Amino acid sequence: MGEFSGSEPLVGEIVGLRTFRVDDSGLLLPLYSGGVWYDGTNTATCSPPTGDHRRGPHRVPEAACECGFYAYGTREAAARNRHMRYVRAVVSCWGDVVAGTQGVRAEHARIDAIWLHPGAPSGLRRRIAGRYPSARFYADADAMLGEHPLSELSCYDRPRRVRPSSRIVAVLAFVLLLALGLVPVEQLRGTDPLWDLWIVVTAVVAAVTAWLVVGAHGAGHLAAAFVVGGLLAWLVAPLFGLSGWLLRLPLLRGLVVAAGGYLLTLRPHYFPVVRAPRERSFCGVGG
Ligand SMILES: [Zn+2]
Repeated sequence: MGEFSGSEPLVGEIVGLRTFRVDDSGLLLPLYSGGVWYDGTNTATCSPPTGDHRRGPHRVPEAACECGFYAYGTREAAARNRHMRYVRAVVSCWGDVVAGTQGVRAEHARIDAIWLHPGAPSGLRRRIAGRYPSARFYADADAMLGEHPLSELSCYDRPRRVRPSSRIVAVLAFVLLLALGLVPVEQLRGTDPLWDLWIVVTAVVAAVTAWLVVGAHGAGHLAAAFVVGGLLAWLVAPLFGLSGWLLRLPLLRGLVVAAGGYLLTLRPHYFPVVRAPRERSFCGVGG
């Protein structure tokens, strides 16, 4: 069972939860595609945000493809998406619908209700309301879900808490990797356990990078390949002495950009708005 596929096709309307990017004209877009969702019924065509476009014509959605409108099945599944802190929408899905452990993919979808972060500018709120006259707007996300309860499907994962300890372990592991790439090469070679650790870690990171590059199927994989590749360059940097700092630059730059982006979101009235020109498309695809 996949996160958004694996079930038998479902009949009837399924209500799910999802998030959108907002553009400055008030239109809602998926996070990973330019396929605008409009007021009322939206009908998906096969142009998945990532993945294989060479498949022949097929029904949308299809188990073997990534197309269709996406919606999370539970609050907990949706909460893993950081963008949910800014925009939440209850959507009804119908037509051909397949479900997985996290939510559904559907042929048709409609936005029923919208909640926006209090930091959303009032002018933008008015434009969004103008674009989606049939959606109900809520100031309270819990009230929205109270009045628009999500469909409960047996294939959804039971709510799981993300243990904070696993996040701490991940951060510690990343810091240790960074530290390993800062040890001078003489010290690495002079300490057997450290040298063995460096070889193993570097080999694993190299293998992951290679797998992401060769086996990459989508934009997400390539982006991950850049990050892991930067980490690989960081790890081999000690072998090149002072010029190794050139190899550390991509990851350093990435860390600075990520930290800057994170600080930006901490501003009290921060609300992300897309200003880039959109591709014209009537048939959106989930993301
Ligand atoms: Zn498809």
